[in-house]
Amino acid sequence: MTQRVERSKSWFERAETATPGGVNSPVRAFSSVGGTPRFMVRGEGAHLWDADGNTYVDLVSSWGPMILGHAHPGVVEAAREAASAGLSFGTPTTGEVELAEEIIGRVDPVEQVRLVNSGTEATMSAIRLARAFTGRSKIIKFAGCYHGHVDALLAQAGSGVATLGLPTSPGVTGTQASDTIVLPYNDIEAVRQCLAANQDSVAAIITEAAAGNMGAVPPRDGFNAALREAAHEHGALLIMDEVMTGFRVSRSGWFGLDLVPGDLYTFGKVMSGGLPAAAFGGRAEVMAKLAPSGPVYQAGTLAGNPVAVAAGLATLRAADDAVYRALDANSQRLGALLEQALTGAGVPHTVSYAGNLVSVFFTERPVHDYPAAAAADTWRFPPFFHALLERGVYPPPSAFEAWFVNAAMDDAAFETIEAALPAAARAAAAAGRPA
Ligand SMILES: *Cc1c(COP(=O)(O)O)cnc(C)c1O
Repeated sequence: MTQRVERSKSWFERAETATPGGVNSPVRAFSSVGGTPRFMVRGEGAHLWDADGNTYVDLVSSWGPMILGHAHPGVVEAAREAASAGLSFGTPTTGEVELAEEIIGRVDPVEQVRLVNSGTEATMSAIRLARAFTGRSKIIKFAGCYHGHVDALLAQAGSGVATLGLPTSPGVTGTQASDTIVLPYNDIEAVRQCLAANQDSVAAIITEAAAGNMGAVPPRDGFNAALREAAHEHGALLIMDEVMTGFRVSRSGWFGLDLVPGDLYTFGKVMSGGLPAAAFGGRAEVMAKLAPSGPVYQAGTLAGNPVAVAAGLATLRAADDAVYRALDANSQRLGALLEQALTGAGVPHTVSYAGNLVSVFFTERPVHDYPAAAAADTWRFPPFFHALLERGVYPPPSAFEAWFVNAAMDDAAFETIEAALPAAARAAAAAGRPA
């Protein structure tokens, strides 16, 4: 196969001069799969087009937000209208109230929300608030869960941190990390012991409502409920990070699937329709501590930006039951194709789901936590990835990321995937274990 990549290559060379590693978010650089990152110039529905004119069925969906597919006419029109009316005012606007109400209407435990610009800001602010509300400093997080690049939360994080194999990040001081306790995901006994050993000092447990940043690793039955119970028994808050799962795995996110209420929630990705916007929210009693109604400072020049809010609102309003049915069906259809091709080529694998998030682990051992995800044959992933890419399918460029379907995927998109998979599975089978 010979796919033209000259233009992407030359843009990447320019990018590497202008910005560290040539990208604005590490996983985009293809570090763990090698090769030339594709510079995309257009997206429509289920497809992306790169600078060399290649077309791809997109299984990244901008890392989650594009549940309706790219350039959805209703969302584009809403953003265009909002932009024409003025890009930013730095005053309250009507749209941000409507978006807040839409979120509150979908996720029962959320009584109030505050809009921010990224998921990172949402988790950072939720943690500050939890610490202020409880008067405590320690935070429990789980290995392999990613909560954005908040200093205190980079310890054993998933996503790009896992892809690059970093234990944590230089530049995070001992003081910032020392209030973070990292425990194994899905291990409730470890949580109980830790809370018992840290009486009256844990402010919050933060967890991905279902882990999606070490690949799709759902909570074991009862894990989230037990977390809530353990947290409350010790006077700590439970922060459900739904930046990835929120408004994607159901209209109410993971909460809609397991109905375990958190005290605080973080959202991003889908709720912004592809523009920069995110949110945190939760019990009114806790949220009331935020300035200006309370003493906990938190602010943002562009928070609640009218264009981002319009795109987010249009996305959520278009995301009806039919859209969620399509996302679920597309994820099952993708998983079945992966299963069939990898079985056909004799590649040891587990296709894992967390709601409609899908991912592939090259192992037959069950994956319930990060060490298990990292112990899979991740060296099979680069050749698997490139065989798909060459054949017009764009999976996430890392063995540790979930695959994101969208509702615009049609039979033709699935035919492209089905045609590409056997060769990719053979490439995974032929991969050599590194010495
Ligand atoms: C993406 C993500 C974040 C960070 O969001 P950004 O907008 O990239 O800062 C936080 N938590 C989870 C679970 C995520 O998937």
